[in-house]
Amino acid sequence: MKPKIGIFDFSGCEGCQLTVLSLEDELLDLLGAVEIVNFREAMTERSDDYAIAFVEGTITREGEVERLKGIRERAKILVALGSCAAIGGINCLKNFHNLEEVRHIVYGDKADYFETFAARPLKAVVPVDYAIYGCPIPKQEFLEVAKALLLAKKPNIPNYAVCVECKLAENICVFDKGMTCLGPVTRAGCRAICPTYGNKCEGCRGLVDQPNINSHKEVLRERGLTVEEVLAQFRMFGGCLEGIK
Ligand code: SF4
Ligand code: SF4
Ligand code: SF4
Repeated sequence: MKPKIGIFDFSGCEGCQLTVLSLEDELLDLLGAVEIVNFREAMTERSDDYAIAFVEGTITREGEVERLKGIRERAKILVALGSCAAIGGINCLKNFHNLEEVRHIVYGDKADYFETFAARPLKAVVPVDYAIYGCPIPKQEFLEVAKALLLAKKPNIPNYAVCVECKLAENICVFDKGMTCLGPVTRAGCRAICPTYGNKCEGCRGLVDQPNINSHKEVLRERGLTVEEVLAQFRMFGGCLEGIK
């Protein structure tokens, strides 16, 4: 019998699910090896019988807590799909504002119908077994993690900085072009796509496990950024992470 997989979403833009859908040929190969029983964005059928749950999005409402706990209870393995789910991602920007004001700005005169609380990653609510980082996730990483899990292996998630991939790509460092970059403290796995195309790394994959944040903040300050600008850089995707506040 094929292993059963569910793909679920909470608060997010659904870009990570779209990345999975856009796998096309590889997705057909994957469908030969697994049975997808729950994937709102792609199918109408629903089943609560699954072994692996890929979960996209940040938890931002009370009702989402119970739903996520139910998914956790049913799944043997739970994988956070994308940076919203893994680290809170861009949704955590709202935590730096008055939540009541945010609610009224977003929902206007319908605000009373929509409760909200501070955004948080899945691991703040339930145990998470593995995470696929990125905003959105890289296609290749989803396939590699899915294959590893199907072979009952531990997925190999990079725990070194984007700079390593950037050097391997023989890019000119954007610091040498007068820009700043979060690559030295950000988890690799995206093949340094942004510096490869001449942009700075914005840190969408979150921090490596033991980042030297203070040292990097100092580097950014030496490059002329104010304390607020430095914090804003880290908060874009990492506002829910410890150590950056
Ligand atoms: S991680 Fe980015 S692409 Fe994925 S759901 Fe969140 S906002 Fe969208
Ligand atoms: S461009 Fe960014 S990621 Fe690349 S080497 Fe420089 S600091 Fe590191
Ligand atoms: S270079 Fe940085 S911002 Fe760009 S995809 Fe990689 S981790 Fe994300």
